[in-house]
Amino acid sequence: MVETQLRSRDIADPRVLDAMGRVPRHEFVLPAHLARAYEDRALPIRENQTISQPYIVALMTQSAELKPTDRVLEVGTGSGYQSAVLGELVQEVYSIEIVESLATEAGALLGKLSYSNVQVKYGDGYAGWKEHAPFDAILITAAAPRLPKPLIDQLAVGGRLVVPIDNILLHQDLVRFTKTKEGLVRDKITGVQFVPMTGEIRK
Ligand code: SAH
Repeated sequence: MVETQLRSRDIADPRVLDAMGRVPRHEFVLPAHLARAYEDRALPIRENQTISQPYIVALMTQSAELKPTDRVLEVGTGSGYQSAVLGELVQEVYSIEIVESLATEAGALLGKLSYSNVQVKYGDGYAGWKEHAPFDAILITAAAPRLPKPLIDQLAVGGRLVVPIDNILLHQDLVRFTKTKEGLVRDKITGVQFVPMTGEIRK
Protein backbone atom coordinates (compact mmCIF):
# COMPACT_ATOMS: atom_id res chain seq x y z
CA MET A 1 0.00 0.00 0.00
CA VAL A 2 2.71 2.48 1.00
CA GLU A 3 4.81 1.81 -2.11
CA THR A 4 2.15 1.47 -4.79
CA GLN A 5 -0.52 3.88 -3.57
CA LEU A 6 1.41 6.55 -1.66
CA ARG A 7 5.10 6.84 -2.53
CA SER A 8 4.37 6.33 -6.25
CA ARG A 9 2.01 9.32 -6.11
CA ASP A 10 2.91 12.54 -4.32
CA ILE A 11 3.29 11.37 -0.72
CA ALA A 12 6.95 12.11 -0.03
CA ASP A 13 7.09 13.03 3.66
CA PRO A 14 9.06 10.14 5.22
CA ARG A 15 7.30 10.53 8.58
CA VAL A 16 3.87 10.24 6.93
CA LEU A 17 4.92 7.19 4.87
CA ASP A 18 6.30 5.57 8.00
CA ALA A 19 3.11 6.24 10.00
CA MET A 20 0.94 4.87 7.18
CA GLY A 21 3.09 1.73 7.22
CA ARG A 22 2.67 1.26 10.95
CA VAL A 23 -1.12 1.65 11.41
CA PRO A 24 -2.94 -1.71 11.02
CA ARG A 25 -5.73 -0.58 8.66
CA HIS A 26 -7.39 -4.03 8.82
CA GLU A 27 -8.34 -3.31 12.45
CA PHE A 28 -10.46 -0.34 11.34
CA VAL A 29 -12.58 -1.97 8.59
CA LEU A 30 -15.68 -4.13 9.01
CA PRO A 31 -15.01 -7.90 9.15
CA ALA A 32 -16.79 -8.26 5.81
CA HIS A 33 -14.19 -6.02 4.14
CA LEU A 34 -11.07 -7.50 5.75
CA ALA A 35 -9.67 -8.76 2.46
CA ARG A 36 -9.97 -5.28 0.98
CA ALA A 37 -8.46 -3.38 3.91
CA TYR A 38 -5.31 -2.31 2.03
CA GLU A 39 -6.97 -1.57 -1.32
CA ASP A 40 -6.80 1.83 -2.97
CA ARG A 41 -10.33 2.89 -2.02
CA ALA A 42 -12.66 4.11 0.69
CA LEU A 43 -14.79 1.39 2.34
CA PRO A 44 -18.17 1.51 4.06
CA ILE A 45 -18.26 1.39 7.87
CA ARG A 46 -21.30 1.35 10.16
CA GLU A 47 -23.94 4.11 10.21
CA ASN A 48 -23.59 4.78 6.44
CA GLN A 49 -20.17 6.36 6.91
CA THR A 50 -16.83 5.52 5.33
CA ILE A 51 -13.19 4.91 6.16
CA SER A 52 -11.30 7.15 3.75
CA GLN A 53 -9.02 5.91 0.97
CA PRO A 54 -5.44 5.46 2.30
CA TYR A 55 -4.08 7.98 -0.23
CA ILE A 56 -6.49 10.69 0.92
CA VAL A 57 -5.64 10.04 4.59
CA ALA A 58 -1.93 10.35 3.71
CA LEU A 59 -2.52 13.47 1.59
CA MET A 60 -4.50 15.26 4.32
CA THR A 61 -1.88 14.28 6.89
CA GLN A 62 1.01 15.45 4.71
CA SER A 63 -0.79 18.71 3.90
CA ALA A 64 -1.14 19.47 7.62
CA GLU A 65 2.71 19.63 7.89
CA LEU A 66 2.78 18.10 11.36
CA LYS A 67 5.58 18.31 13.91
CA PRO A 68 6.07 15.72 16.69
CA THR A 69 5.18 18.32 19.34
CA ASP A 70 1.87 19.31 17.70
CA ARG A 71 -1.59 19.13 19.23
CA VAL A 72 -4.16 18.19 16.58
CA LEU A 73 -7.96 18.23 16.37
CA GLU A 74 -9.85 15.90 14.05
CA VAL A 75 -13.54 16.37 13.26
CA GLY A 76 -15.16 13.12 12.07
CA THR A 77 -13.54 10.19 13.91
CA GLY A 78 -15.48 7.55 11.92
CA SER A 79 -13.49 4.31 12.16
CA GLY A 80 -10.62 5.99 14.03
CA TYR A 81 -8.12 5.23 11.25
CA GLN A 82 -7.09 8.82 10.54
CA SER A 83 -6.89 9.42 14.31
CA ALA A 84 -4.42 6.53 14.61
CA VAL A 85 -2.26 7.90 11.78
CA LEU A 86 -2.21 11.26 13.57
CA GLY A 87 -1.44 9.48 16.85
CA GLU A 88 1.72 8.03 15.27
CA LEU A 89 2.92 11.51 14.31
CA VAL A 90 2.10 14.04 17.00
CA GLN A 91 1.98 14.45 20.74
CA GLU A 92 -1.76 14.91 21.31
CA VAL A 93 -4.79 14.07 19.15
CA TYR A 94 -8.37 15.07 19.95
CA SER A 95 -11.08 13.64 17.73
CA ILE A 96 -14.82 14.37 17.72
CA GLU A 97 -17.54 12.16 16.21
CA ILE A 98 -21.22 13.12 15.89
CA VAL A 99 -22.53 9.51 15.77
CA GLU A 100 -22.36 8.19 19.32
CA SER A 101 -21.87 4.49 18.50
CA LEU A 102 -18.97 5.30 16.15
CA ALA A 103 -17.34 7.50 18.78
CA THR A 104 -17.62 4.74 21.38
CA GLU A 105 -16.29 2.00 19.09
CA ALA A 106 -13.41 4.06 17.71
CA GLY A 107 -12.40 5.17 21.21
CA ALA A 108 -12.34 1.56 22.41
CA LEU A 109 -10.38 0.34 19.39
CA LEU A 110 -7.77 3.10 19.69
CA GLY A 111 -7.40 2.20 23.37
CA LYS A 112 -6.99 -1.50 22.51
CA LEU A 113 -4.27 -0.59 19.98
CA SER A 114 -2.52 1.51 22.68
CA TYR A 115 -2.97 4.93 21.08
CA SER A 116 -2.88 6.54 24.50
CA ASN A 117 -2.23 10.02 23.04
CA VAL A 118 -5.56 9.98 21.15
CA GLN A 119 -8.80 11.07 22.84
CA VAL A 120 -12.22 10.63 21.21
CA LYS A 121 -15.46 12.31 22.22
CA TYR A 122 -19.03 12.20 21.02
CA GLY A 123 -20.40 15.54 19.86
CA ASP A 124 -20.69 18.07 17.04
CA GLY A 125 -17.21 19.00 15.88
CA TYR A 126 -18.56 22.37 14.78
CA ALA A 127 -17.88 23.71 18.27
CA GLY A 128 -14.36 22.26 18.42
CA TRP A 129 -12.82 21.25 21.76
CA LYS A 130 -12.13 24.49 23.61
CA GLU A 131 -10.43 22.93 26.66
CA HIS A 132 -7.54 21.71 24.49
CA ALA A 133 -7.24 24.68 22.11
CA PRO A 134 -5.26 26.17 20.47
CA PHE A 135 -4.50 23.45 17.92
CA ASP A 136 -1.46 23.39 15.65
CA ALA A 137 -3.54 21.59 13.05
CA ILE A 138 -7.20 20.70 12.47
CA LEU A 139 -8.43 18.03 10.04
CA ILE A 140 -12.10 17.97 9.11
CA THR A 141 -12.76 14.57 7.51
CA ALA A 142 -16.34 15.29 6.39
CA ALA A 143 -17.46 17.68 3.66
CA ALA A 144 -18.33 21.17 4.90
CA PRO A 145 -20.11 23.99 3.04
CA ARG A 146 -17.91 26.54 4.85
CA LEU A 147 -15.43 26.80 7.71
CA PRO A 148 -16.91 26.53 11.22
CA LYS A 149 -16.06 29.82 12.96
CA PRO A 150 -15.19 28.19 16.33
CA LEU A 151 -12.55 26.05 14.59
CA ILE A 152 -10.84 29.11 13.09
CA ASP A 153 -10.77 30.62 16.58
CA GLN A 154 -9.25 27.42 18.03
CA LEU A 155 -6.47 27.25 15.41
CA ALA A 156 -3.08 28.61 16.56
CA VAL A 157 -1.42 31.35 14.53
CA GLY A 158 0.74 29.42 12.07
CA GLY A 159 -1.70 26.49 12.34
CA ARG A 160 -3.08 24.55 9.36
CA LEU A 161 -6.70 23.49 8.83
CA VAL A 162 -7.36 20.87 6.13
CA VAL A 163 -10.97 20.39 4.98
CA PRO A 164 -13.04 19.22 2.00
CA ILE A 165 -15.18 22.26 1.09
CA ASP A 166 -18.39 21.63 -0.90
CA ASN A 167 -17.93 22.60 -4.50
CA ILE A 168 -20.59 20.99 -6.66
CA LEU A 169 -23.01 18.31 -5.47
CA LEU A 170 -21.10 15.37 -3.91
CA HIS A 171 -17.73 16.84 -4.89
CA GLN A 172 -15.43 18.96 -2.79
CA ASP A 173 -12.17 20.84 -3.02
CA LEU A 174 -9.69 19.63 -0.45
CA VAL A 175 -8.34 22.91 0.90
CA ARG A 176 -5.64 23.87 3.38
CA PHE A 177 -6.12 27.11 5.31
CA THR A 178 -3.07 28.47 7.10
CA LYS A 179 -3.75 30.98 9.87
CA THR A 180 -1.46 34.01 9.75
CA LYS A 181 -1.56 37.25 11.74
CA GLU A 182 -3.16 38.87 8.70
CA GLY A 183 -5.81 36.17 8.18
CA LEU A 184 -6.30 32.83 6.44
CA VAL A 185 -4.24 31.78 3.43
CA ARG A 186 -6.10 29.29 1.22
CA ASP A 187 -4.40 26.57 -0.88
CA LYS A 188 -6.40 24.10 -2.95
CA ILE A 189 -4.90 20.60 -2.78
CA THR A 190 -7.13 18.48 -5.03
CA GLY A 191 -10.72 17.37 -5.72
CA VAL A 192 -12.24 14.80 -3.33
CA GLN A 193 -15.48 13.05 -2.34
CA PHE A 194 -16.35 12.84 1.36
CA VAL A 195 -19.53 12.10 3.30
CA PRO A 196 -21.19 15.33 4.47
CA MET A 197 -20.46 17.12 7.71
CA THR A 198 -23.78 17.21 9.58
CA GLY A 199 -25.08 19.11 12.61
CA GLU A 200 -24.81 22.84 13.23
CA ILE A 201 -23.02 23.64 9.94
CA ARG A 202 -26.17 22.64 7.98
CA LYS A 203 -28.52 24.92 9.95
N1 SAH B 1 -11.68 10.06 9.54
C1 SAH B 1 -12.57 8.94 9.31
C2 SAH B 1 -13.48 9.18 8.11
C3 SAH B 1 -14.84 9.25 8.61
S1 SAH B 1 -16.15 9.66 7.52
C4 SAH B 1 -11.81 7.64 9.20
O1 SAH B 1 -10.57 7.66 9.14
O2 SAH B 1 -12.45 6.58 9.21
C5 SAH B 1 -16.72 11.15 8.28
C6 SAH B 1 -17.20 11.05 9.70
O3 SAH B 1 -17.55 12.38 10.11
C7 SAH B 1 -18.45 10.21 9.89
O4 SAH B 1 -18.22 9.22 10.85
C8 SAH B 1 -19.50 11.23 10.36
O5 SAH B 1 -20.42 10.68 11.29
C9 SAH B 1 -18.63 12.29 11.00
N2 SAH B 1 -19.23 13.63 11.12
C10 SAH B 1 -20.07 14.25 10.25
N3 SAH B 1 -20.41 15.47 10.71
C11 SAH B 1 -19.77 15.64 11.90
C12 SAH B 1 -19.73 16.69 12.87
N4 SAH B 1 -20.44 17.81 12.72
N5 SAH B 1 -18.97 16.52 13.97
C13 SAH B 1 -18.26 15.36 14.17
N6 SAH B 1 -18.27 14.33 13.29
C14 SAH B 1 -19.01 14.47 12.17
